[in-house]
Amino acid sequence: MASNRRAFLTVTASATASAAGALAVVPAQATAGTGRPPAPAPATASAALDELLAGNRRYAVGRPRRPQDVVGRRRVLAGGQHPFAAVLGCIDSRVVPELVFDQGLGDLLCIRTAGQVLDEAVLGSLQYAVEELRVPLVVVLGHERCGAVAATLGRLRTGAAVPGHLELLVEEISPAARRTRALPGDWAEHTMRAHTAWVRDAIRADPAFAGASVVAARFDLDSGLVALLP
Ligand SMILES: [Zn+2]
Repeated sequence: MASNRRAFLTVTASATASAAGALAVVPAQATAGTGRPPAPAPATASAALDELLAGNRRYAVGRPRRPQDVVGRRRVLAGGQHPFAAVLGCIDSRVVPELVFDQGLGDLLCIRTAGQVLDEAVLGSLQYAVEELRVPLVVVLGHERCGAVAATLGRLRTGAAVPGHLELLVEEISPAARRTRALPGDWAEHTMRAHTAWVRDAIRADPAFAGASVVAARFDLDSGLVALLP
């Protein structure tokens, strides 16, 4: 499997290298209807995070810049992509990274699994983002009232078996749930925070991702706001 992964990365690297050269002179974002020139894409992790948090504030107050010039942007991106951040988030239909961060086509490389659980496919996708696309920032995005966390707590409370493929999700989230079970307050919230921070730390510790900054964050379903986790 490792050789297959390397072959995949090698093949995509050559395609990406030519695309990156083309994109160096292409505006990163079209801002439809404002009459202003498009802003350049953030080039550093710090700038990328600033842009994401600024976009989230626009989303939270209901003043998104998007939709952008989708047709024009699609034409620009047809020759290659250059996303400025990768987001590993949950599949929850209420936590859509491009909407939550008010970003457009080609801006974010998003990987989503229930409960933002890691597996080899996720890690390979992230490696592609960091090593080949040179994405400077990885955001691990958890959220409140997560169904995968709820399923995990249900399993630990009742001991009942989890059907089929859901077992992997529960197994991955269970360590965070066990660690936080005795804490006062909302067990689900504690579990989500601990699990999301653990995923962040696991990515940080992997040499494959040394080229990127990795942060963890929590999305609030009620306010729409994203807050970084310690
Ligand atoms: Zn979720």
